[in-house]
Amino acid sequence: MVDTSPPTISPRREVIKQEAPAVFGEEPVEPMELDRLPYAPALEATDHVQLQQRYGLFIGGAFTKPKSNSYRSTINPATEEPLAEVAEAGSLDVDRAVAVAASAFSTWSRLPGAHRARYLFRIARLIQERSKELAVVETLDGGKPIRESRDFDIPLAAQHFFYHAGWADKLDFAFPKGRRGPLGVVAQIIPWNFPLLMLSWKIAPALATGNTVVLKPAETTPLTALLFADICRQAELPDGVVNIVTGGPKCGSILVRHPGVRKVAFTGSTAVGKEIQRVLAGSGKHLSLELGGKAAHVVFDDAPLDQAVEGVVNGIFFNQGHVCCAGSRLLVQESIAEPFMRRLRRRVGRLRLGDPLDKNTDIGAINSREQLQRISALVESGVAEGAHIYQPPCHLPERGFWFAPTIFTEVSPAHRIAREEIFGPVLPVMTFRTAAEAVARGNNTRYGLSAGVWTTKGSRILWMAERMRSGVVWANTYNQFDPAAPFGGFRESGFGREGGVQGLADYLELK
Ligand code: NAD
Repeated sequence: MVDTSPPTISPRREVIKQEAPAVFGEEPVEPMELDRLPYAPALEATDHVQLQQRYGLFIGGAFTKPKSNSYRSTINPATEEPLAEVAEAGSLDVDRAVAVAASAFSTWSRLPGAHRARYLFRIARLIQERSKELAVVETLDGGKPIRESRDFDIPLAAQHFFYHAGWADKLDFAFPKGRRGPLGVVAQIIPWNFPLLMLSWKIAPALATGNTVVLKPAETTPLTALLFADICRQAELPDGVVNIVTGGPKCGSILVRHPGVRKVAFTGSTAVGKEIQRVLAGSGKHLSLELGGKAAHVVFDDAPLDQAVEGVVNGIFFNQGHVCCAGSRLLVQESIAEPFMRRLRRRVGRLRLGDPLDKNTDIGAINSREQLQRISALVESGVAEGAHIYQPPCHLPERGFWFAPTIFTEVSPAHRIAREEIFGPVLPVMTFRTAAEAVARGNNTRYGLSAGVWTTKGSRILWMAERMRSGVVWANTYNQFDPAAPFGGFRESGFGREGGVQGLADYLELK
């Protein structure tokens, strides 16, 4: 078995000296030492990191200046300090990226699967080798606790490449030879909550099946995608097979509409997903959408309470609640509501909010000012609509974007906090009496991405799993992922699957 566990981050103080890559634009830019930045949180962790002051677009195997000549700053949401400037791709840049990917497709798609597998294995190993650097940059750019980047995001990203490397030369066993083919150039657009992980969910199956890629990371978290571009170079992936264009919604919109693109794989909000669906209607392009969620997390009266409390805390406070499948509606059986809520409040009161680079931190920074405003507005609506708010005493740092862990009781299904995706550390709680009522309440949503059930009765788990209308139902656990298990939504949570053999099918033309 391949060991995918990352080495632990040790407090090393010397700064790694490294040449600036010669291929970056026409003027190589000096690497920046993070030690010089005017902030001092758990800095030893950043000693593994070298960021450039400016990043170009990764097109055709090299970092190049954007034709638009425009850049935007990406900041550390825990301090609001700038980390680097990142190119903003315009339509000429997207044209070039798609053209280069189309040209690379003619050779990449004809490579024997075993050869493609070698590149994927190399990438997986390089992600492991550079895991400290990737984890620190993911935390700096996104605000998530380093413990999560280190133990979840980065190892799971490597696992996705290992898993799909295994498939590249075995596609015949799942899809008839001669009756399947890759699609061509795939446009992939990802959100900011799990940047490198979402990238790996998209790029690994696309490459394993013989497609080439133009990927656009989210505008607030582009840095690990740019480090990944460097990993592609290190792995000697043929030029043009993976291209990374950075930019905001406009760049995404240009990419989606580009006539050279054969498939769009989008992960993000339901609103943007619907817009892309409208834009692509009648275009003949393949489309998969991984969108928002509002999962019911159901706790029955026979559940082991302490374990269920841990599961519920993990379900909503993991990654500050910036999780599409977060257990963001707690349904507790009425008979245990009082003792359960007492334990839950006590546990939430012990969560540590603060410096994301501190390995003891449970709740890091909110990813952006805009997201903080969205969370605050929804929480205000909960109070205005009559729900009862609980927030443990909690010191919020003066700079950066922070939100205290929040629990709402006295919630009605009609409240906005019970219906809308908050995407923050906020848990609305409702009760139920019977299993049938739990199912009815749980399914009372326009989403259908995930659900969770806590009970000791095996028969009840199966009964619930059959009835909950969502792509994933976790039982007596939450937020567990495996590259072999297909992930995706029902209804307004999207369509298509990522992971498993079903995820590969979405990147193939089946005859
Ligand atoms: P978003 O929809 O605002 O942005 C997602 C990406 O789309 C970004 O890269 C953005 O630049 C780009 N984009 C924005 N407008 C576009 C347009 N008109 N055309 C093309 N691209 C466009 O979402 P977000 O705020 O970055 O992410 C949070 C959302 O993502 C939440 O709703 C969350 O539930 C969802 N999400 C879903 C999954 C899943 O697997 N189902 C996983 C992670 C996040």
